[in-house]
Amino acid sequence: MNMQTGKIGVTTENIFPIIKKFLYSDQEIFLRELVSNAVDATQKLKTLSKLGTYSGNLDNAKVSVLVDKDNKTITISDQGIGMTADEIEKYINQIAFSGAEEFLEKYKDKIDSIIGHFGLGFYSSFMVAQKVEIYTKSYIADSKAVKWECDGSPDYTISDCDKQTVGTDIVLHIDKDAEEYLETKRIEDLLNKYCKFLPIPIVFGKKQEWKDGKYIDTDEDKIINNPTPAWTKKPSELQDEDYQNFYRELYPIAEEPLFNIHLNVDYPFNLTGILYFPKIRNNFEVQKNKIQLYCNQVFVTDSVEGIVPDFLTLLHGVLDSPDIPLNVSRSYLQSDQNVKKISNHITKKVSDRLAEIFKDNRTEFEKKWDDLKLFITYGMLSDEKFYERAEKFALFKNTEDKYFTFDEYNTLVKDNQTDKNGTCIYLYTTDAEAQYSYIQKAKNKGYDVLIMDGHLDNHFIQQLEQKLEKCRFSRVDSDIIEKLIVKEDVQKPSLSDSEQQDLTQVFQAVAPSAGYIVQFEALEPTDLPIIITQSEFMRRMKDMAQMNPGMSFYGQLPDSYNLIVNSNHPLIEKIIQDKQSAIGNTVDEIKKEITPLKEQKENVSKSHTDKKEEEIPSAEKEQLETLQKQIQDLESKLNDVLRNYGTSNPIVKQLIDLALISNNMLKGEDLESFVKRSISLIK
Ligand code: ADP
Repeated sequence: MNMQTGKIGVTTENIFPIIKKFLYSDQEIFLRELVSNAVDATQKLKTLSKLGTYSGNLDNAKVSVLVDKDNKTITISDQGIGMTADEIEKYINQIAFSGAEEFLEKYKDKIDSIIGHFGLGFYSSFMVAQKVEIYTKSYIADSKAVKWECDGSPDYTISDCDKQTVGTDIVLHIDKDAEEYLETKRIEDLLNKYCKFLPIPIVFGKKQEWKDGKYIDTDEDKIINNPTPAWTKKPSELQDEDYQNFYRELYPIAEEPLFNIHLNVDYPFNLTGILYFPKIRNNFEVQKNKIQLYCNQVFVTDSVEGIVPDFLTLLHGVLDSPDIPLNVSRSYLQSDQNVKKISNHITKKVSDRLAEIFKDNRTEFEKKWDDLKLFITYGMLSDEKFYERAEKFALFKNTEDKYFTFDEYNTLVKDNQTDKNGTCIYLYTTDAEAQYSYIQKAKNKGYDVLIMDGHLDNHFIQQLEQKLEKCRFSRVDSDIIEKLIVKEDVQKPSLSDSEQQDLTQVFQAVAPSAGYIVQFEALEPTDLPIIITQSEFMRRMKDMAQMNPGMSFYGQLPDSYNLIVNSNHPLIEKIIQDKQSAIGNTVDEIKKEITPLKEQKENVSKSHTDKKEEEIPSAEKEQLETLQKQIQDLESKLNDVLRNYGTSNPIVKQLIDLALISNNMLKGEDLESFVKRSISLIK
């Protein structure tokens, strides 16, 4: 053949500037495209060889990548089927679509996937090269070797060449502004990223050895990929160790995974892969999106969101499917039928695998539960179908480190923990250390306490209360034990209303803030004198507000606690007596003054009941105002006396501080004063 020239067949005048302009951000994929073309060509010839159409030996067929820094070239060579001159005309010269420019403009954001899809793969080489040469010899007997050359304009030349071996060499003459690709390290990184699991060995340079204080090249080729990664094998060919080794290959520094799932479907869609359950810690956002997506062993992306449900993005591993459309937007992906099927399949496989381990080896499942819990909780919260499946194997863990399914737990507690309204109360702790004394109290009553200290447990509890029948969760410290599970109407406290009012002032005077609501309960004399609790509702709302900006109203409310005074405790009785002897007379006197004023005020008010505002004589109005003022003054005088007493009695403060300490709530200066006060009280 003599030298020929021609124009590359695209409808638009010049496609190269477009390629350069729009594809610039994804420049690096040129290597993936050329190497996977080389791999395809090799595999095609291997197939022909198997069919007997080709008789050459392909056992050692490989693809090699060579960087020549001096001549500024990168060469990708293969021993694949090669191309005849006609094939070059057909596959390289005729770019197989029309309206290229318009098309690229429309899809410029998704250009990466379009390239592969529309057979532009080879042309992506012009993103980094100012000239590209193809030297190729077809496997077809007696075909002539051909050289094709193009300098980035639509004009190409095609001529004979003296290539002896079957296969193709693609030589890229690297552009000035793409010289970074002449760095060995850069190419090695790219090969590792995109070509790590391609099915044909890829050679890049030589293996090195340490000699005389430095690394030198050996004669042996360095193969950068693993052509037969674990997911391409049959599950029956693999041992546990192989799965572990493959995990290590994917994530060299990650912790051992808990277990894995091998996916292998070929109908109605094609999907292979291995998913691993990692140990999931509380900061799970950083663990998301580690799954790598491949298309016939070519790396595509490590962002699978939109392809699998959100909670599954916590898993690690590899998915490989030629059936996931890559040339479309994420939102389209979510509505794609194939993607939906694949996603459902994966969700089902994941829950099946968990159910299987639970059934076959409950001990192992329980051992791994703490590390699995967050994943399963997340799944149950975000995926209704997953909830239904997981409900059978999800576990509760109690403070004795025992595990129960939901049903088992209900059976365990329902007799002893059902309240008078028939609601079964599940007691839980979010911090077994900090809530120790409350847990003990519950246990003494024969109640069981669950550990709910997970990142999502707050939300999970809300969900469980809706799903499980007649059940409510209460944190152990949300009320005194008698009221956590109310089995019959609670007896009335032994103190009179007026005594309670007085004592409220006494305790309020030294409570840490106005957010502490003083309440009186006639508990056992052996119970603590003062207990601090926080209402389940308020705490939950505040916790939720922290995770959910939309609920900031609750987040802004001050913390509110109940300060529960045990009126039967000897120390409290002592305070009551002591108060009586210290200020009893003064208090009685002030009250004596208040009582007639109140009576008077009531009588006057009563006489106004049926009168209209304008019918009331102004003298009477004034009288009412004066009475009101006098009552208020006396009441505040009374409160002052009571509050002064409260602050002057160190035992009152001491008891409150002790209650705070047992809740881990006494800090800083307050803690220091407590210590000093304790010492002086001992003296
Ligand atoms: P795609 O690979 O998506 O078909 P390309 O532009 O990358 O698009 O390649 C177009 C065609 O050129 C390929 O389908 C193949 O027939 C041929 N081709 C490309 N590279 C090679 C190669 N290294 N050896 C043999 N044929 C090749």
